[in-house]
Amino acid sequence: MQELFCRLVSTPSPSGQEADVAKLIMHELSRRGVTAKQDGSKAFTNSNSGNVIATIPGGKRRLTFIAHMDTVEVGDRRIKPTVRGGVIRSDGSTILGADNKAGVAPLICALGEIVQMSKRPTVTGIFSTREEQGTMGVGYLPKGNNGDLVFVLDSEGDVGGFIHKALGSRLFDVEIIGKEAHAALNPEKGANAVKAAGLIITSLKLGRRSHSSILNIGMISGGRKRNIVPGSATLSCGARAFDEKTIRSAINEVDAAAKRACKATGCRYRIRMITDDGAPTFEVNPDSSVVKIARSAAKNLGLKFSISSRMATFEANILAAKGYRPLVMCHGGKLPHSTSEVLKVSDLAATKSMMVELARLSA
Ligand SMILES: [Zn+2]
Repeated sequence: MQELFCRLVSTPSPSGQEADVAKLIMHELSRRGVTAKQDGSKAFTNSNSGNVIATIPGGKRRLTFIAHMDTVEVGDRRIKPTVRGGVIRSDGSTILGADNKAGVAPLICALGEIVQMSKRPTVTGIFSTREEQGTMGVGYLPKGNNGDLVFVLDSEGDVGGFIHKALGSRLFDVEIIGKEAHAALNPEKGANAVKAAGLIITSLKLGRRSHSSILNIGMISGGRKRNIVPGSATLSCGARAFDEKTIRSAINEVDAAAKRACKATGCRYRIRMITDDGAPTFEVNPDSSVVKIARSAAKNLGLKFSISSRMATFEANILAAKGYRPLVMCHGGKLPHSTSEVLKVSDLAATKSMMVELARLSA
């Protein structure tokens, strides 16, 4: 599996360009006797590959594993993995790509073992596209059944750890409309949109607002020329929280701040929600069957079981909105999206064993 992992990370697959790694995955699955095909999500995601869907027929219970194929891009350099002392690293100039090939490699091998099991559930393995940006491949998946067991392999943290709750996010722009005027001849005729933007920013509590809520203004643009009173400005905002109500109240607060700022400066504003991005909130009850089976699998393998929330957003958020009841599974990788990203070789086997055990328990 270590060799397979190294081959997967050496095959570039930035978001939207997963075709090469998809081909490698399909080849590795077919070698193990697992049937797989690509779905029609290409047109939907603008990726050069569809999601790879592997299916293993079995009993009534349905079990699905999902691992995204894409990685965040750090330059055009190839990832060169090195293994030393049981730890896999890049050469230090790129990410390693354990996010998410530390999910992909064990999933291929687990499916190869599950297909040999005489008693097994119906298992689907989904290798998805464009998780890291833009329209996500999982957005194309059909509506789910909340009786199905779904595990999303996509988190740092020790194997045996699961995530049942993650942040939802809403992205929006505050567009401020002022009035241009000559900066020297008749500034009093203008309405300064950049000043309104400044007032909005200074009156809000930004960053971490509570243990469960985040508000960020990530970009500000406005004005046209040094000698013109700025007639327009835009603030690009994002609100995140574990529940929709908290997200809504953060947006309302921005709205109220914009109203006050515009009143003071003679500007107008509108809030424009960005619909194709952001994510719904995600939470699975810790008493649900998917959590129970995860706990049993960890116990049977002698791994420490844990369930927690995470200040992050996953494919699980999209799946939950589609009616699935997914859990995010930790696969051991550490420091994702950085050149210091690492993975222990032993985590590959532990992640694979976890999936095989989940299949055995749900047969
Ligand atoms: Zn990931």
